[in-house]
Amino acid sequence: MPLLVVGSVALDTVHTPTEERERVLGGSAIYFSYAASYFSAVRLVGVVGEDWPDQHTRTLRQRGIDTSGLQVVPGGKTFFWKGRYLPNMNDRETLEVHLNVFGDFQPQLSAEHRQCPFLFLANGSPRLQLSVLEQVNGPRLAVADTMDLWITEQRDDLLELLRRIDGLVLNDSEARLLTEDENLVRAGQQVLELGPKFVVIKKGEHGAMFFSQHETYVLPAFPTERVIDPTGAGDCFAGGMMGYLAEQSDFEPRTLKKALAYGIVVASYAVEDFSLDRLTQIARDDLELRMERYQRMLSF
Ligand code: AMP
Repeated sequence: MPLLVVGSVALDTVHTPTEERERVLGGSAIYFSYAASYFSAVRLVGVVGEDWPDQHTRTLRQRGIDTSGLQVVPGGKTFFWKGRYLPNMNDRETLEVHLNVFGDFQPQLSAEHRQCPFLFLANGSPRLQLSVLEQVNGPRLAVADTMDLWITEQRDDLLELLRRIDGLVLNDSEARLLTEDENLVRAGQQVLELGPKFVVIKKGEHGAMFFSQHETYVLPAFPTERVIDPTGAGDCFAGGMMGYLAEQSDFEPRTLKKALAYGIVVASYAVEDFSLDRLTQIARDDLELRMERYQRMLSF
């Protein structure tokens, strides 16, 4: 079943302790789309400026991603993010963010996009996320991501969004910021009380925690030695998870757990190089192989 994603489409400059890359393909919706495309049809909605290399659009199309909703603003500049990782490769600081054309983005979904049964509101302002949610005709599953910037600056809109979506994906520090509770188990349960039916707290190299009314569990990350650039790992996790749910076309507890595992497996590949460089080299079979190893690792 088709999966619609709306979020940032970016040019990222990334500094790690050993290497740097300037203005590479990035953005929450890009990582999400690419990861989800291994499982289901993906429709991307986003905005870029004149500085956007056409080659990036071709990279997405080569994986069958529908880019008809990618708007190019003449004379505009693409969203730009610059970040630096600390030696532990888990924590990072944002050095620059220029929203550029993404700051004024008011998407008008096409008739086809409005019918998408699966919706992911990738990282972006809650106001933008709400406006998209309102345009989609009764999605079967609507899930959102958020980040510290929006928790502090658009809290009321975020709370409104939480009352209207099925699932929320956020990282551990964001869950603590949102609930003002240091204990992640309590934080996850408190986010549930804000509206969503399920909540996933991403914990970087430590995997992910799942919360619903009926169950709480933790899945570890796939252990990988080769961490070159963790940028986009969270979005790839969400892409793998939602892509699998859209493929299966259900969200029963068992399917959800397997979807989280696929998210973890896709993310484990994404960190093995900068931008989409590793993902562009792998196929669904590679994901299945690593999934088997992951399942074996967890059975005892
Ligand atoms: P992740 O590592 O999964 O948190 O995602 C990193 C991606 O998020 C980068 O490619 C950035 O371009 C993008 N990003 C950073 N800040 C923002 C923001 N304020 N809004 C939307 N996307 C952002």
